[in-house]
Amino acid sequence: MEPKTRQVESARLQRVPPYLFADLDRRTEELQRKGVDVISLAVGDPDLPTPDHVVEAMRKAVEDPATHRYPPYAGTSGFRTAVAEWYLRRFGVRLDPERQVLALIGSKEGLAHLPWALLNPGDVALVPDPGYPVYRVATLLADGVPRPLPLRPALGFLPDLTEVPTEVARRARLLFLNYPNNPTAATAEVDFFAEVVRFAREFDVVVVHDNSYSEIAYDGYRPPSFLQAPGALEVGVEYHSLSKTYCMTGWRLGWVCGQAEVVAALAKLKTNLDSGVFVAVQRAGEAALRGPDEPVRDRVATFQARRDLLVAGLREAGWKVTNPRATFYVWAEVPDGFDSVTFAQHVLDRAAVVVTPGVGYGEVGDRYVRLSFTTPDHRLREAVDRLRRVR
Ligand SMILES: *Cc1c(COP(=O)(O)O)cnc(C)c1O
Repeated sequence: MEPKTRQVESARLQRVPPYLFADLDRRTEELQRKGVDVISLAVGDPDLPTPDHVVEAMRKAVEDPATHRYPPYAGTSGFRTAVAEWYLRRFGVRLDPERQVLALIGSKEGLAHLPWALLNPGDVALVPDPGYPVYRVATLLADGVPRPLPLRPALGFLPDLTEVPTEVARRARLLFLNYPNNPTAATAEVDFFAEVVRFAREFDVVVVHDNSYSEIAYDGYRPPSFLQAPGALEVGVEYHSLSKTYCMTGWRLGWVCGQAEVVAALAKLKTNLDSGVFVAVQRAGEAALRGPDEPVRDRVATFQARRDLLVAGLREAGWKVTNPRATFYVWAEVPDGFDSVTFAQHVLDRAAVVVTPGVGYGEVGDRYVRLSFTTPDHRLREAVDRLRRVR
């Protein structure tokens, strides 16, 4: 028989970069097979449970047969209204729940589909480096051209938009941003967002701000919304997620809100791809957004105590780290002589602790590793003790 020449993966799928950490995974598994107790600080997935009143709302909703049918495509009006009310309370931004809010099957889903709704082949999307990998990969899959926006420590990991060459800015259709930021934990203020609005107007770019971590902030800090910047509602959208705020990563619920035509374009695409979010999950989401603030405050207090433990431990051990005022990540510079992958391997070999190599978030990230503190306290304490012994 002739050998098959046809590739299983389409040319489009082949554009998706290969998984970078196969080696690291193999070494982790090897250690575990030998009986070594490996602690992972690699994933950003809260170990704390969803608040009780949210679980209770879900339990009730599941028993109501009205939730068993197809949901409305754009989300229930109850959920979208709860979003608009939460926005007004939290940010002082007024949204029309009908035209400016769309429910998502987690924000990742909506972020990944947006380039399909807005990009023509060859259109540029400006993506932060380092950044959440979905922005870049979704652009590639939609025949767009991702161009990196380097985030450097000198500017507090904010991009320098004046650095974008004019001919690139003219071809740009999308600008992805994310503050509080994964993976650097950097934050941005409204005056930066106002600059972003000016850039978007000048070059007719749609701004896509990912605000998944707006409620995970410490020491009393309250991160702003991009939509608070004057004119933002005309040039962009903001993504939110229930995942991090309410420890609901498994439930799959988020939303996008802002510029009505962008919201409508994504909604049109999605009516052809999926059939919405389980109504019971949306009712639980309503309960979360309308519910008491204490459960969120308690969870954030737990993360803050862990942050203090991790940052203090790493500094004692001589690591160069900043104290994050939001997210549950520490972005740590790797020592000279290492890149992000070789340093992650070194930490694994010496301490049996898994950290994420920064190169997974882009080339500029290769000088860093990311450590998350979504691990139970006693495990984090053990990890810190071990990391003190590295180097
Ligand atoms: C976790 C995360 C998301 C995805 O959240 P879901 O709503 O669970 O899909 C999106 N963006 C960033 C930056 C994240 O870290």
